[in-house]
Amino acid sequence: MLNVDLHCHSNVSDGALRPAEVAARARANGVDVWALTDHDEIDGIREARETARALGMRHVTGVEISVTWAAQTIHIVGLQFDESNRDLQQGLINTRSGRERRAHEMAAQLAEAGIPDAFEGALKHVGNPDLISRTHFARYIVELGVCKDISEVFRNFLVEGRPGFVPHRWATLKDAVSWIRGAGGIAVVAHPGRYGFDDVALDAFLAEFKRYGGVGIEVVTGSHTVDEYARFAVVARNYGLLASRGSDFHAPGESHTELGALPPLPPSVVPVWHDWRM
Ligand code: AMP
Ligand code: MN
Ligand code: MN
Ligand code: MN
Repeated sequence: MLNVDLHCHSNVSDGALRPAEVAARARANGVDVWALTDHDEIDGIREARETARALGMRHVTGVEISVTWAAQTIHIVGLQFDESNRDLQQGLINTRSGRERRAHEMAAQLAEAGIPDAFEGALKHVGNPDLISRTHFARYIVELGVCKDISEVFRNFLVEGRPGFVPHRWATLKDAVSWIRGAGGIAVVAHPGRYGFDDVALDAFLAEFKRYGGVGIEVVTGSHTVDEYARFAVVARNYGLLASRGSDFHAPGESHTELGALPPLPPSVVPVWHDWRM
């Protein structure tokens, strides 16, 4: 069976490794088909593709777009698009554009909470100045010894109701799906178990996602429990969505899961790669 990993990050967004290092790590872990899906960025794709090819691994273009839907942040993974598409490129530039100002506001809040110089501290972990993310702040807070790991940071800081949380307006669901489709790609809901949707909210969201032309949903991801693999396999079947698998790997020793190490998709679903030539 093919080992497919269609969700992970490099230091072009909030991962810790260069795209080539992520590719090599995926290959070493036995991945056959691989997509780098940096947040709101496709700058790592060229290096990812070249390295994957050199290592004999099938490469798929990828991105993870930040979306605001019903006042909530949702992530949409795009796969198999043409990265030279201008509308997609411009859409991603616009989506990234508020991050630096947001980061300054986050740092101001953290300073009031007794964590000084967080903007500069986070920046030391940033590989791409256009993409300062909460993860970079989290790494700095761990480095200071204020929290023991990233999970502890995201329980005490950077989330709603805690210091360092700055609400942000990302792309619309319609735009994100349209950019991906317009570039010839397919849109996939990232880690649906992370949004706290009950069945009613999930139904409203998926109806709209499908209306815009979304076709896939992650079932096996590093963000899901084993129970959620089963829940979202049923959802994929009931909604006629293709199922995806991805580790959401960010950094060695930091992520929940390692590249290529998750269980396979349940046999009841149709994989997003079912009709890919490989
Ligand atoms: P941002 O796009 O700046 O809002 O940052 C979002 C990123 O923060 C996600 O892509 C994750 O990498 C990270 N993140 C959010 N919540 C958690 C969490 N509970 N544990 C670990 N990482 C998290
Ligand atoms: Mn991330
Ligand atoms: Mn995500
Ligand atoms: Mn991700």
